[in-house]
Amino acid sequence: MQRATTIAQIRTYVAEARAAGKSVGFVPTMGALHVGHVSLIEAAVRRCDYVVVSIFVNPTQFCPGEDFERYPRPFERDVELCERHGAHAIFAPSPVEMYPRKSLTWVTVEKLTEPLCGRSRPGHFRGVTTVCTKLFNIVGADVAFFGQKDAQQATVIRRMAADLNMPLEIVVCPTVREPDGLAVSSRNQYLSPQERQEAPVIYRALRRCAEMLDSGRRNAAEIARAMNEILSQVPSLQVEYVSIVDAETLEPVDQVRGRILVAVAGRLGSTRLIDNIVVDIRATEGIMAPR
Ligand code: AMP
Repeated sequence: MQRATTIAQIRTYVAEARAAGKSVGFVPTMGALHVGHVSLIEAAVRRCDYVVVSIFVNPTQFCPGEDFERYPRPFERDVELCERHGAHAIFAPSPVEMYPRKSLTWVTVEKLTEPLCGRSRPGHFRGVTTVCTKLFNIVGADVAFFGQKDAQQATVIRRMAADLNMPLEIVVCPTVREPDGLAVSSRNQYLSPQERQEAPVIYRALRRCAEMLDSGRRNAAEIARAMNEILSQVPSLQVEYVSIVDAETLEPVDQVRGRILVAVAGRLGSTRLIDNIVVDIRATEGIMAPR
């Protein structure tokens, strides 16, 4: 596996792969890799001939007071994992390599970045869209792979790529979960043993939603109420939002129909957790509920 820390190096590696006629896949990450990231790497390896994984804890997507400094950085372990799962190159630039001067240019996606996580994390999505644009320009991949776990991010990136005619395809892969339903996340390691036991309540609330939809309920307020009731079983969980929105526009819906995103965010102690499901309700077919 090739390792690049500079933009010039990764460009050389990708140019060589292209010259050999290879298609290029790209998996952007902040490291502290886990089975969720591995699922993206594997999807990329299946689909593309040459796969680049970036490992970069992007300072511009952390808000003041967030966990930028303490974000886990087990670099050698990450490298080993990428290699074991068939990545062909890692790109691990320093902050100075990525931001050699104060940026005067930002990429902003309007509207889609306002609700849900946009409310409590001002500037977060601007950091994500800007760094993804930079990484896309640097790597020059044919396909980039993102996780459904970060549903709003995936929606925003898709829209950005479409609006700006970026010459790559965005693929969104399913959320990987622990056996008890908790969505795997690099931040789960912040949880105390008790918080770790309590955290799957978020998935239980999402399951409850899927069950209600299965039984024909369509009223979003009623579903959200039932989900909040489940979430209140863990009093230490500070719920940030329970939102039932159109999966493409992220606008709230009153009645559930079409492709709908049901998203939850909350804080357990100092750890912010997010999770979601997407359901597709066709007038005639009933719902395609998640696992
Ligand atoms: P991060 O390192 O947290 O920025 O995540 C890098 C990519 O991995 C993003 O596209 C995430 O959506 C994706 N990802 C993180 N956790 C999971 C998971 N549990 N299942 C699937 N994809 C994930």
